[in-house]
This record gives sequence, structure tokens and C-alpha cells, in this order.
Amino acid sequence: MIVDMPPGTGDVPLTVFQSIPVDGIVIVTSPQELVSLIVTKAVKMAQMMDIPILGIIENMSYVECPDCKKRIEIFGKSHVEEVAKEYGLSVLGKIPMTPAIAAACDAGEIENLETDWLAEAVSKIEQ
Ligand SMILES: [Zn+2]
Repeated sequence: MIVDMPPGTGDVPLTVFQSIPVDGIVIVTSPQELVSLIVTKAVKMAQMMDIPILGIIENMSYVECPDCKKRIEIFGKSHVEEVAKEYGLSVLGKIPMTPAIAAACDAGEIENLETDWLAEAVSKIEQ
């Protein structure tokens, strides 16, 4: 079972960690956020609760040019790799901003979206 939690390290994750036997967490962040601060807080909380961190996923990481496939980092350069390295964590994926995600969500078919963005995350979770 996967529990999707709201942003932050407040009461919701605390309650989940205290009431469900959690095997591990995946930290989801985005480039425009204060990634270092967010990851630091999440890492500290997980360590306090003795919960393994499977890795980090960067959402809204880039836009891919439909013509030449160049990745454009519209929120600026990503710092997720440096922050992950600082804490000995893996970056499990970078999810682009793409109309395909919005279209799949609107159609209620996000689970049918064919991508390899999260292949590493899926593999890590299955392990
Ligand atoms: Zn282009």
C-alpha cells in the first residue's frame, strides 16, 4: 500500500508513522522549493521515527522540448542531486511537467500513463 501524504513534516506524516507499520518513505520535492530545507526536515523526521528513506523524486523537474527533446529547467537548475548526496540518498526519478500528465489525470487514467520516469522508484519499492 502506498500512502500519499500532504507536503511538509507536520501532524499527518507523524500520525501515519505512529499508526501504520511503514516500510519506507519516498521524499517528493520540486526544483523551486527550498529543497535542502525540505529534505533535511524529512530526513530528520524519518530518522527520529526509525523509518528507512528509499530516495527522493523531483517533481516538475523540467519541460521537454517537443521538437528537439532538450530538457528545459524552467524553475532553474536542480539541486536535488547535491542534496541527495549530502544525505547519502538516491534520486529515484525526475518527473517532467508535461500535458500528458494533466490529460491522464483529467481522464482519470493516470495509472495507465506509459513512462519510464519512475522506473527506478518502482524497482526500489519492489525491492
Ligand atoms: Zn527544441
